[in-house]
This record gives sequence, structure tokens and C-alpha cells, in this order.
Amino acid sequence: MEKIYFVGAGPGDKELITLKGYKLLSKADIVIYAGSLVNPELLDYCRKGCLLYDSATMSLEEIIEVMSEGASQDKLVVRLQTGDISIYGSIREQAEELKKLNIEYESIAGVSSFLAAAASLGIEYTVPEISQSLIITRMEGRTPVPELEKLELFAKHKTSMAIFLSVQGIEKVVEKLLEGGYSESTPVAVVYKATWRDEKTVSGSLSDIVAKVKSEGIKKTALILVGDFLGDEYNYSKLYDKSFSHEYRKATID
Ligand code: SAH
Repeated sequence: MEKIYFVGAGPGDKELITLKGYKLLSKADIVIYAGSLVNPELLDYCRKGCLLYDSATMSLEEIIEVMSEGASQDKLVVRLQTGDISIYGSIREQAEELKKLNIEYESIAGVSSFLAAAASLGIEYTVPEISQSLIITRMEGRTPVPELEKLELFAKHKTSMAIFLSVQGIEKVVEKLLEGGYSESTPVAVVYKATWRDEKTVSGSLSDIVAKVKSEGIKKTALILVGDFLGDEYNYSKLYDKSFSHEYRKATID
């Protein structure tokens, strides 16, 4: 029996899938893709005759049914999900159902949208001495978040944040971030459809980002990046500092 491959499709740009993901996609007999977010251009990589299922209209049971049917017939089944499957990928439930059926699976990493958004902006989340941690989170919506993971609690750290699935509630996000301790002048960038042809980026601060996002009409498929890593203050790293010795290089000046 073939195993099921969970493949990260990357953020949008069809060249941002891994070579391993591409090879599997091009050999697959069956592809179940998340049509609401996966760029359809990626399906151009599928061979003729490959069966395509859009999971947007399917239930978990239907998805598992297609997977188990395929596996039992030794077909190569690819479950294609946006970005990397480990971030809001709903793969745990799929994996657990497969385990119950004794069907093996393997995951292939993808480029998550928070990485693509950083690349689009040409920025680093971990600027020396400004921020050395990145919080990946979402605001609660119809899906609740654990009590200790409320945005206002995370905001207390004033570190870099990448907020998924929340742009539709940007006013509330800003309110909670301010409540938690970020100042009004904290820089914010909203990246809509990073790496897609219609990508849009809006930059501002917590005081004006709501108006900017509204005037651009951004309501979904966007990341909210917040923190001083987006600001003008920065420090050079020790890694390439010629007065700093490390395992691979001796200091050349004192
Ligand atoms: N597994 C995906 C995330 C899926 S959740 C990943 O690793 O990126 C869906 C949310 O991800 C969207 O609501 C949006 O917040 C974000 N997202 C996905 N693709 C995006 C893109 N190309 N640009 C900006 N945000 C994106």
C-alpha cells in the first residue's frame, strides 16, 4: 500500500514549492488540494490523467475516503496544502484518521507565508538586540484560542509577531495589541497574497494601519506583521563583526 504525502505548496508563487514537493506532484495519481488558498498554477505540474479533488467543498470523512481508496489501490496520493502544512494546516486530524486505518503518511515541508511575507518586505524578524523571538499566532475568531494565548498577552513581550487569519478583524487586533503594551508608533506591515501576482503590501504603525488596510480593501489572505523589527533602529550582528572571535574565525582587531 502506498503512503499519503502531505505536501506544502508554498505561499503562492509556483516556483516556491520544494523540489521534493514538485517531484511528487508531477508523479501523483491523485491530488487533493486546498482550492481556497493553493495557487491553481501549481496544478500545471500534475501529469495528464491525474485525478484532482478540491478539498474546499469536502468534509474530513470525504478527504480520508479519497486517500484510503487511493492508498489501497497503490496510487500515489498527494495532499497539497498552502504554505507549510505545520502552520494552521489542520493536518493533525487527517493524520490521526490515517493512523486509525493503518495508512502511513509522510510530510514534505513548504515555504510558509510568514517567510514569504518577510522576503517580500526584505526584512529580518530577528534583528540583533531589537527582537530575537517571533510569535506566530492568530486572533480568536470562530476558532477559539487557549486563554493564555490571547493577543494582548503575547503583546506584552513586544517582540516580532506574525498574525495569521485575522486581517478581517484588524480593528480588534490593533486594540488588543495596544492593550497588551505595544505603543501607537509600533510599525506594522500587512502583506496580502505574498508572492502572488496580485500581492499588495501596506505599511504603517498601529495608529494608522486600520485606515490603510480598509482603503486597500484587504479582507483576507493576509498576514499582519508587528514589531520594532520593521522600524529604523537596528544593530549589526556579532557573527560578521571582525572584532568578535568565534569557532570559525579569529578576531582581526581588538
Ligand atoms: N499553512 C499556511 C497557513 C494557512 S492558514 C502557511 O504556512 O502559510 C491561512 C492564512 O495564512 C491566511 O488567512 C493568511 O493569514 C495566511 N496566508 C496564506 N497564504 C498567504 C499569502 N500568500 N500571503 C499572506 N498571507 C497568507
